[in-house]
Amino acid sequence: MPFSDFAGNPETIHRLREMLARNRFPHAVILSGAHGSGKYTLALMLARAMNCLEPSTDGLPDFCGHCSNCTRIAQAEDLDSRFAEAVEARENLRDTDKKETRLFVQTHPDVLIIPPDPPQLMIKVDQVRHVIETIYYRPGEARERVYIFTSSAFMKEAANSLLKVLEEPPEFASIFLLTENPGELLPTIRSRSMTFNLGALASTEIESRLAQLRPDWHARQRALVARLSEGAIGRALSFDLESYVAARNHALIMLKSALGGRDSNNAHTDLFKTTESYRPGAEGRAKIDNLLRTLYSLLEDLMFLQSGAEQLVRNTDILGELKKMSESADFAWLQRAAEGLGEVERGLRRNLLRSLSLDAFATALESVSWN
Ligand SMILES: [Zn+2]
Repeated sequence: MPFSDFAGNPETIHRLREMLARNRFPHAVILSGAHGSGKYTLALMLARAMNCLEPSTDGLPDFCGHCSNCTRIAQAEDLDSRFAEAVEARENLRDTDKKETRLFVQTHPDVLIIPPDPPQLMIKVDQVRHVIETIYYRPGEARERVYIFTSSAFMKEAANSLLKVLEEPPEFASIFLLTENPGELLPTIRSRSMTFNLGALASTEIESRLAQLRPDWHARQRALVARLSEGAIGRALSFDLESYVAARNHALIMLKSALGGRDSNNAHTDLFKTTESYRPGAEGRAKIDNLLRTLYSLLEDLMFLQSGAEQLVRNTDILGELKKMSESADFAWLQRAAEGLGEVERGLRRNLLRSLSLDAFATALESVSWN
């Protein structure tokens, strides 16, 4: 996948490739951007461009995608799967070895990917020590050693160790630090790195990318996903439309039942059937998180409609339904509903029985609408 396949942020990509062309690529690069903005994809593309054995060019360095360096580096593209494999491999070790084994993803001998180490999901000092142990050796099969830290959540000691490397980096190594929030990194690390930000894409741009990459979705579905992914192409591509729609159907039942007031016996029964299906456990937790997120997005859309900002509505595929609902919901009701939702979230953090606090939320909404 050459650089032209990277979605959005053309100026940033151009600058990075120019620095590669002039042999002035910084030793440490911070790639910052929202979840799904393409930080990891870009770091792997740059790693390939640095090490491609049959580099192509359109005036600026590119990579072939099929030489032995390109293909091995590309095997790390599916980070979630590689990460899960590394975690599982460690789980299978004897207890004594388990403690000493740090987590890495490595599909090429000179390219090391450092993910946050579970269960704390932080970069640990032993991981950085391993970077220090290897970074001063010349690369074996590549021109440039590449290290990619996929998170900026460093344990304190780990951050201090990294700083030591950044003070004296070898000529032939590049370090990438990926972050959603550069402020999380030590100021001394930031000052020794060059920061590039991957900004949000316009939803029209995401829509047209989706038209190529997800032809199985209808135009209406693509428009919806583009609006819900907040400018991050990675989120759009991995969007689980089916669970979203399922969660939204539940959310709609809850809101309609609340808005319907006294005459909504049927809706009420539906509602309790719905909330009953939310049970404790990891699966129930994910389901309820989805439900809360969709409830918020629907309330937000209803507020947009109330304030005459129809163009901001994200659930565009059910616009007609939302308009009808917004006729019976006034601004104060929506505000109280959002507050009630906040209470449900706080209750969940205190681990109240899930279905119970959802029922309470629904009942509270109804009593509000009766007043
Ligand atoms: Zn290549």
